[in-house]
Amino acid sequence: MPQGRSLAQPDWDRRHRAILVILALYIVGLVAFGFYRRYSVQHIAIDAAAVAMFSAWAWQPFGGRKLRSTLASIALLTAASIGVHLSGGNIEAHFQFFVVITLLMLYQDWLPFLVAIAYVVGEHGIIGVLLPTAVYNHPAAQSNPWLWAGIHGAFVLAASAANLAHWRLSEDDHKRAQDTELSYERLFAGHPQPMWVYDGATLRFLDVNDAAIAHYGYSRAEFLAMTIKDIRPPEDIPELLRTTADGQDLDAAGPWRHRTKDGGDILVRISTHRVPLSTVDARHVMAQDVTAQEDLMTQLRHQAFHDPLTSLPNRALLIDRLNVMLRQAERSETLVAVLFCDLDGFKPINDSLGHAIGDQLLNEAGRRFSGALRPGDTLARLGGDEFVAICEIDAEHVAIQLAERLGAAVAHPMELEGHQVRVSTSVGISLGRGRANSPDELVRNADIAMYRAKSGGRGRFEMFDSAMHGRAVMRLAIEQDLRPALGRDEFRLFYQPLFNARDRSLVAFEALLRWEHPTRGMIPPADFIHVAEDSGFILTLGAWVIGEACRQLAAWRAAGAGTFMVGVNLSARQLTDPGLVDYVESTLRATGLPASSLVLEITESMLMSNISASFSTLEALKNLGVGVSVDDFGTGYSSLSYLSRVPLDSLKIDRSFVAELGTDEKARVLAAMLVDLAHNLGVRAVAEGVETEAQLAILQDLGCDVIQGFLLGRPLPSGLVLGNEAPKAPAAMTA
Ligand code: C2E
Ligand code: CA
Ligand code: CA
Repeated sequence: MPQGRSLAQPDWDRRHRAILVILALYIVGLVAFGFYRRYSVQHIAIDAAAVAMFSAWAWQPFGGRKLRSTLASIALLTAASIGVHLSGGNIEAHFQFFVVITLLMLYQDWLPFLVAIAYVVGEHGIIGVLLPTAVYNHPAAQSNPWLWAGIHGAFVLAASAANLAHWRLSEDDHKRAQDTELSYERLFAGHPQPMWVYDGATLRFLDVNDAAIAHYGYSRAEFLAMTIKDIRPPEDIPELLRTTADGQDLDAAGPWRHRTKDGGDILVRISTHRVPLSTVDARHVMAQDVTAQEDLMTQLRHQAFHDPLTSLPNRALLIDRLNVMLRQAERSETLVAVLFCDLDGFKPINDSLGHAIGDQLLNEAGRRFSGALRPGDTLARLGGDEFVAICEIDAEHVAIQLAERLGAAVAHPMELEGHQVRVSTSVGISLGRGRANSPDELVRNADIAMYRAKSGGRGRFEMFDSAMHGRAVMRLAIEQDLRPALGRDEFRLFYQPLFNARDRSLVAFEALLRWEHPTRGMIPPADFIHVAEDSGFILTLGAWVIGEACRQLAAWRAAGAGTFMVGVNLSARQLTDPGLVDYVESTLRATGLPASSLVLEITESMLMSNISASFSTLEALKNLGVGVSVDDFGTGYSSLSYLSRVPLDSLKIDRSFVAELGTDEKARVLAAMLVDLAHNLGVRAVAEGVETEAQLAILQDLGCDVIQGFLLGRPLPSGLVLGNEAPKAPAAMTA
């Protein structure tokens, strides 16, 4: 049975009021009708008062819906009965009851109908019997009032049943609607993701859920006073307006930046759909906070394209940017300068002061390089102490200015954890003119130019040219041919004699390596030693040199040539090789030579760059009895106190000092100082590169102990230096 509970109180009140108004009009109508039918005032007043009494009772606010609707029903039915009565029981006037029954429907309740049935049946039956003409003007009804009362009742019942059926249906609909509304409401309110509904025209919030309140920090009231513009950063508003204007926002999922109440930005993806309500074009939005995911993505992207130490772009990003810059340069007819910067002296600092300071140095260098560049330029770190800057420039000479600026930027001393550190940088430059130059090639060329700058001394820069490229190609060929050359027996040792400056006796031969290349001819060591050093092949090659020199010396001794020594040049890699001492020892044993007949030459810079390792190796060699000579002396920066602790036999004054002797008085002073230095350290002074009689005379005069140079003997193959007899001192020595 429908309860009419679906009717909300305000609706019921409104309907009840309407029925009371109808009753008032009804009373007015009845009064007018009474006068028209010429009833007495008294009669009319009593009839109207009956209706008015029930109406007034129904009007007062006390009692529940049931009582008030029952009273209003009685008032209506009384009015209808009086209408019939005043018409003189006119049978057509009975249709009023159906109008009244229809009005009772407004209460959406079964009680008024029961009241109506009881009233209609009772009234027509009782009054029909007592006063038949007052109720009916129809003879059949007058003769059988209860039957007619029953007929009236049956119609009222049918009308009531039809109404009840109608309510049932509408109540079911209503309940269903209420259910969906409820579940939607629950879904909206309790959903863990922020959701809101806004007005597509004014962008005002119409509703927000709890998650939105929690997430954005605004209260519900604050939200409802805001528009969706208020949760976007100001700079995003123009875009928001553009997309909402044409309804694009419905598919644009973002991520968008939203601003929370505390001013922080979050990234959200949203899904929006239109909810056309009766009055507004509403949009329902569900937001998903993806700040954490996006942060992670950004971080991963950053990691993929940046150097973790300095956060500068890495090679991949550099190549990418270089590509863009080259395309841009082609359009604007400008140049792209690629500046390959390599720190000089980074390795010794890193080795001696530790990696922590080394890292700080790299960071500081990166900062300084960046500071020397313009905003559109890119600085990348390729690893180690290698940085590359790419800059768009108008003319070639600007590249040189840039290189100078970069060099100057790192030149002034750095203060790193109390250490004052000074580095310089070698810069190689290559120039790109457009898409014809590949980024990889430009970086490679700049690298080649950098190597050249480095080999020319510290803190210099060099521009890549095609000759440089030719040399690079040659270097590559050498690198490929070098290893197999040993198996093919292409290496040769040449020997250059060293003489005692006083008694002119032969002191030693220096073994100098040559490569007899099948197509390139005799290749000097300067062209391949550094390649062998870079690849590590120098260890194998160096061992071969020691073995071959010792074997040759043993052969000479066996032939009775004399007791002179052999000098072998060592490279830096060999000096730090832990197997060196054992190898030297076993070679000496195998050839039967006394250790004192072998002199190992190490350069001054080698000695200084890896002090601790070289010191222990030198000690061990000294204990074996092998001699150690410092080559190219005067070109490095060795401290006297350090030299005095290293077990040495001789200092070899560098060729460059000897070359100036006789022409430059200052050179004589320097040479004198170096000879004295050797003597003060208690070792022999050796002069190399002696080419003229004048140089020889001065060196003899200065008290130099041993002389080597083209004047006295060029490096020659073993078979040509000695033959069967000992080499003769040249005429100059006997003077
Ligand atoms: P270095 O140790 O200073 O060798 C002396 C170089 O000076 C030799 O050049 C020699 O030919 C050259 N020379 C000798 N007298 C004169 C002279 O009067 N005037 C001029 N202008 N030059 C003179 P070379 O043979 O081309 O060797 C160059 C460098 O290659 C050597 O310099 C040495 O550092 C390195 N080297 C040579 N052989 C070996 C080796 O077996 N192992 C290693 N690690 N390095 C080697
Ligand atoms: Ca040497
Ligand atoms: Ca030398």
